[in-house]
Amino acid sequence: MDTEPAAAAILEIDLAAIVANWQALRARHAGAVGAVVKADGYGLGAAITAPALHAAGCRHFFTAHLAEAIALRPLLPGAMIAALNGPLPGEEDAYRAHDIRPVLGSLAQVEAWSGCAGRWGRRLSALLHVDTGMSRLGLAAGELAALAAEPARLGGLDLCYVMTHLAAAERPQAQSNARQLARFRAACAALPAAPTSLANSSALFLGPGYGSDLARPGAALWGINPTPGRANPMRPGFRLSARVLQVRAIAAGEGVGYNASFTAARPSRIATVAWGYADGFHRAFSNRARAFFDGRPLRLVGTVSMDLSTFDATDHPRIGPGDWLELVGPHQSADDLADQAGLSPYELLTSLGRRAARRIRGAE
Ligand SMILES: *Cc1c(COP(=O)(O)O)cnc(C)c1O
Repeated sequence: MDTEPAAAAILEIDLAAIVANWQALRARHAGAVGAVVKADGYGLGAAITAPALHAAGCRHFFTAHLAEAIALRPLLPGAMIAALNGPLPGEEDAYRAHDIRPVLGSLAQVEAWSGCAGRWGRRLSALLHVDTGMSRLGLAAGELAALAAEPARLGGLDLCYVMTHLAAAERPQAQSNARQLARFRAACAALPAAPTSLANSSALFLGPGYGSDLARPGAALWGINPTPGRANPMRPGFRLSARVLQVRAIAAGEGVGYNASFTAARPSRIATVAWGYADGFHRAFSNRARAFFDGRPLRLVGTVSMDLSTFDATDHPRIGPGDWLELVGPHQSADDLADQAGLSPYELLTSLGRRAARRIRGAE
């Protein structure tokens, strides 16, 4: 007897589309193309997506945290795995033991690693992150100048990449892009010669000037539009659907959900769906989101609850318990859904909870 409880929501991950997206980005870029799989592969599951990309030939992976990188190490033999957040004091042995490439983002981190090379009596490979306008991670201008004036501070280190990160790559008109590119070029010229790593997803669409030896796309791999406001060049990497639990008839004038933020203007049918803010369906979607059934839209009405949301199914007489509503799929992209709550699609994707059953469609 099958005692598995039925899923209340399904996140369907299309590995063939994700691999095709990586291949499409690789075709656009003269240098290598890696994959950023931080935050558990943007919520889709790094242990699912990273090995599929590895099988397709991807050899450079980035996480944010060291722990995320260590978890992926056995799944990605021979590949570079780098942790973008940079090594904290005391983490050096773990980086070495698990063969994780540090991303050095301050002079102190450079000194610590150069010291390790001396102590361990071997040369160490590292990425060097220079800050060109994010003021977040990476060597500040003064630190860069100190390093350029005294390259011996890099003693024992092999810089496998010098990298930077653009603050507004998804806005081609932003002047910061060209400014950061010029600063990056100047930084690379001042440092010992090393390969470069520049573009995230959107920067791969800024033009050939933003090429480097290693691009670092994340979002575009999963099908998020790297060119907002223009047609999405990527294939959707996932679908999301949630299940209808009940459908009820209510009279005109009745309220729906907490604080009755929606009142029915007509006799209505309300479909209650097993997908709430604990699943990443933030309360900002209240009275704003849309889902699809049979290719036709229905509106979310009322305030999103922790585990539930309510949709106006009045014009959908066929909807009943057990039916699936499309939240992300052929009729509505992740970008569209996120926009309905004023969220970034990155935010939507990374907040999807663990309660959706992951279904994997294999790579071709
Ligand atoms: C997240 C991140 C990326 C990937 O950005 P996308 O916009 O998802 O392509 C690349 N580089 C760094 C430093 C990042 O933090």
